Amino acid sequence: MIIVVKNSCEEKQFTNLIDWVKELGLDVHVSRGEHSTVLGLVGDTSRVDIDLISSLDIVEQVQRVQEPYKNANRKFHPEDSVINVGGHKIGKDKFHVIAGPCSVESEKQIIEVAEAVKASGATMLRGGAFKPRTSPYAFQGLKDTGIELLLKAKKETGLPIVTELLSVNNLDLFKDVDVIQIGARNMQNFELLKEVGKTGKPILLKRGLANTLQELLMSAEYIMAEGDSEVILCERGIRTFETMTRNTLDLSAIPALKDRTHLPIIIDPSHSTGIAKYVEPMSLASVGAGADGLIIEVHNDPKRALCDGAQSLNPEQFDKLMGKIKAMLPLVGKTYGE
Ligand code: PEP
Ligand code: MN
Repeated sequence: MIIVVKNSCEEKQFTNLIDWVKELGLDVHVSRGEHSTVLGLVGDTSRVDIDLISSLDIVEQVQRVQEPYKNANRKFHPEDSVINVGGHKIGKDKFHVIAGPCSVESEKQIIEVAEAVKASGATMLRGGAFKPRTSPYAFQGLKDTGIELLLKAKKETGLPIVTELLSVNNLDLFKDVDVIQIGARNMQNFELLKEVGKTGKPILLKRGLANTLQELLMSAEYIMAEGDSEVILCERGIRTFETMTRNTLDLSAIPALKDRTHLPIIIDPSHSTGIAKYVEPMSLASVGAGADGLIIEVHNDPKRALCDGAQSLNPEQFDKLMGKIKAMLPLVGKTYGE
């Protein structure tokens, strides 16, 4: 349920209303806009008397919210959310590119890639330390050493780091990580979502291989219900009958999600296509469709990458792509970085 309160409302009347709602056992999410303030009520609202609330002078409108996601719902928070990652603002009128290798392989590799992507304008560094691989015999990542190397690269370049958490058992290792990535395979690992929601850190939540957008929003809701509102959604391609690309990039997810949620949405053109040559066209298409950013795999030597070399750009290709992305941004009313 949402209550739209007039901005002419006095502070005392406002706090009285909030206290009364809380006494009914509900959580209140406050979103202050230019002309009105929206109160989002979360919990069992069946006992709330809509007519009684509507009759209050300070109330403009009361509306039941049908969707099962509340905190993530744009009706609760009409303005776009802006997520702060080490001073960088993700969402609204900004555009960010997160870049780096699929996995951290060595100190030399991650530092070289970090320096290269920074020089081209990436604002965050990605790199897997714990890798979810289809085969148990494939490279599983450098694990805790991988996190240490990412922190070293962060120290060298100043780039905030984004890396995937696979298990709650490793959460302690992530205390200096700037953005915790929840990968496609864990989108509905609800216990993991609850735990990351308790960290209060920015969370990059990837859409599952076979999940609907509503399910993605419900997973965001799990994180937000724990009090963490810093969620960045990521479309990374879904399973379809098509085999010419690794996955099928669902670009319509951008406008469809934007209609329903205030959370920023970024696109992963690397895992969605699986082919380095297709990363550029799909990146530019993502800009055109209104994405708030991209997460792109870049490797200093893709042919020798331990994971996902075929979809990784080399630093020169990435640099060229960054130039095109920046040139396109004015068309969609966004500015790069910050
Ligand atoms: C990744 O980003 O390296 C990754 C494994 O992505 P996804 O969870 O989207 O497959
Ligand atoms: Mn990868």
